[in-house]
Amino acid sequence: MRAVILQEPGRIVHAEVEDPKPGPGDLVVRVRAATTCGTDLKAFLRGHPAIPMPGVFGHEYAGEVVEAGEGAPFAPGQEIMGVHSAPCRRCRWCLDGQENLCESLMSTKVLGSFAELLLVPARIARLNVFPKPPGLPFAVVSLLEPLSCVAQGLQELAKCGFPGRDPSSRSVAVVGPGAIGLMFVAVLRLLGVGRVVLAGRNAARLSVGEALGAESVLLEDLRPLDGVGFDAVIECVGLPEVWERSLQWVRRGGWLMLFGGCPTGSKACFDTKRLHYDQITLLSPFHFGTAAVATAREWLIEGRLGLERLLSGAARLEEAAAVFDRLRQGIGIKYVFQP
Ligand SMILES: [Zn+2]
Ligand SMILES: [Zn+2]
Repeated sequence: MRAVILQEPGRIVHAEVEDPKPGPGDLVVRVRAATTCGTDLKAFLRGHPAIPMPGVFGHEYAGEVVEAGEGAPFAPGQEIMGVHSAPCRRCRWCLDGQENLCESLMSTKVLGSFAELLLVPARIARLNVFPKPPGLPFAVVSLLEPLSCVAQGLQELAKCGFPGRDPSSRSVAVVGPGAIGLMFVAVLRLLGVGRVVLAGRNAARLSVGEALGAESVLLEDLRPLDGVGFDAVIECVGLPEVWERSLQWVRRGGWLMLFGGCPTGSKACFDTKRLHYDQITLLSPFHFGTAAVATAREWLIEGRLGLERLLSGAARLEEAAAVFDRLRQGIGIKYVFQP
């Protein structure tokens, strides 16, 4: 089969590799859509501990089952959507309701969706793969994984009391208009949050945010709402200096969710008086459990999020180097490989 190979940071080739073979319970999927993700761009720019090089990459996908290992829950011909990981449901974190922190979360994963065929390991096929509803485009359901991250974040916020009984009275600043920030905008509006302000620097992405229901503002011009602050601030940039700045936009008693993952080894510094005397609830959720995937799947099936606005165009595998070059320059949001 043909696949996109990340040779080393900054260098992508397109090559012929061996077809994947399913073991018991595994699926081999013909990829019909595979969306690019911030993690893929990070791997392309500076490498990534979970993405060995040279090697295949891409982890968002949707497609059609072409081969099923013994006992697999799907049969050849079925159209599916799924995510790239699944919890073990046996470790102390899983048993304690923190599947997103499962100790073996990444020991088995889907990697290599920028290819004609993709192996989905048994554990994932069993817990986190679902039939694709016939009316939904492959490219949109390929967004199940990032949308599950967003669902997890909002579940963690809900545990801490946000948005509470009357979402329409709530205000949120989403900092960073990348794909995740834009998904937060779409979902917050779907949940009825009254005021969503999206802050960033990329004008094209900010205008997508407006189409999804946000007011938009340049990051430099973001101020605490009404001089008091937003009920919640969601940081989706992943830079320590933006983590630090985000605290200033939250109201007393509000919620600050630091969602963007910062470079390994980086540190952030916060005003203890603000955190303590203004009683800011600080959270920084990671990844997702099966409940978040189920929620994200429901949102996709409802079909009211408008996430097709995040798709910046379709590409063939041969065009991968050009696609990542565009992403590096901040052109487009998510591209879709249609092998
Ligand atoms: Zn992703
Ligand atoms: Zn576990």
